This record gives sequence, structure tokens and C-alpha cells, in this order.
Amino acid sequence: MEATLVLIKPDGLKRSLTGNILTRLSETKLEIAGARVVRVGRELAEKHYGHLREKPFFEELIRYIMGEFHDRLKVLALVYYGEDAIPKVRELAGGTNPEEADSVSIRGAYGRVLTSGLFENVIHCSANGEEAEREIKLWFKPEDIIFDVYETETVTRESVKEVVWKEKKE
Ligand code: UDP
Ligand code: MG
Repeated sequence: MEATLVLIKPDGLKRSLTGNILTRLSETKLEIAGARVVRVGRELAEKHYGHLREKPFFEELIRYIMGEFHDRLKVLALVYYGEDAIPKVRELAGGTNPEEADSVSIRGAYGRVLTSGLFENVIHCSANGEEAEREIKLWFKPEDIIFDVYETETVTRESVKEVVWKEKKE
């Protein structure tokens, strides 16, 4: 059993592909173990794609995942959990380049290549176990995932500020 991170990227959200993509992913019979709508700041974007920092398309990729090209400043982040979750989701997602991806895969069906060369491929999914762990820990807190996917510990922090719902006055 393993977990994998899926992001529905801003182009997927803008083009109302969420339903289609989730339906396709349900073919895997994997379980959704966590879900968040996330506003992606530069820090999170650069951490997520840190291993691609040296690539010529890095800056454009960061702006893409932050939603700057699709006036949707958010992504939908999901954790899928189950047997062989990582290869099962990768297979359904299809190859990185949407023009070369299997035409029935999610990226093959919905992705496109910009004139700049950037692949707008509607979905991210972790490539291997090490990447899944790094990414899930980046995007989710332990309490936001319904299974114990990785080891946790309890720490006590003094004077940590937290935003809570304002109490209503009677
Ligand atoms: N990407 C791109 N051009 C490339 C390689 C990657 O535009 O030549 C983008 C594409 O959106 C891809 C993301 O960078 O999904 C991350 O690249 P990676 O090699 O990790 O591919 P993935 O794991 O997403 O298939
Ligand atoms: Mg990757």
C-alpha cells in the first residue's frame, strides 16, 4: 500500500476538467485519503519543482503552477492511497509531453504544448515513492490525511500563532 500526490493544475481547473479527471482516477479503485484547494505561492511552487530549478522552462513552470496563466490562483491537491497507487496514477495520467502521451490518457486527452514549449498537462502525479513522500509532506499536514501514510511525532510548540474562526457575540 502506498500514497501518491495528485495536483489538478490551474489549466485543469479553468477548463472545468476536475470531474472528468476524478472520474478517470476512480477507475484505479484507489481511495482519496486527502483533498485541499491550495493557493500556490512562489515558495511552495519552487519547493515542489525544486529539482527542475536548472531547466530553461523553470520560471514559466513556476508561474504556470501558481495559476498566473489561467486566472485561477489555485490547484486542487489530492492524496490517493492503495496498492501500487503511484504507477497506477502515472499510467492513467500519461506521458509528460501531452503530444506524445497515449491519446486515451488524461494528459493525452486534455493537455497541450504552448508555443514556448511548456507542457500544460492538466495534472501532476508523483513519479516514485521518494517523490511521493516529499511532495505529500510538502502539501499536507498529517491531520489532513485520513490514513497514517508516514510516521508522525507529537511536538509541543510554545507561542505558535494560529488563525481560528472568530467567535460570534450573542
Ligand atoms: N515540463 C515542461 N517541459 C519539459 C519537461 C517538463 O513543460 O520538457 C513541465 C510539465 O508541466 C511537467 C512539469 O514540468 O509536468 C514537471 O516535469 P517532470 O519532468 O517532473 O514531469 P512529470 O513528472 O510531471 O511527468
Ligand atoms: Mg515529475
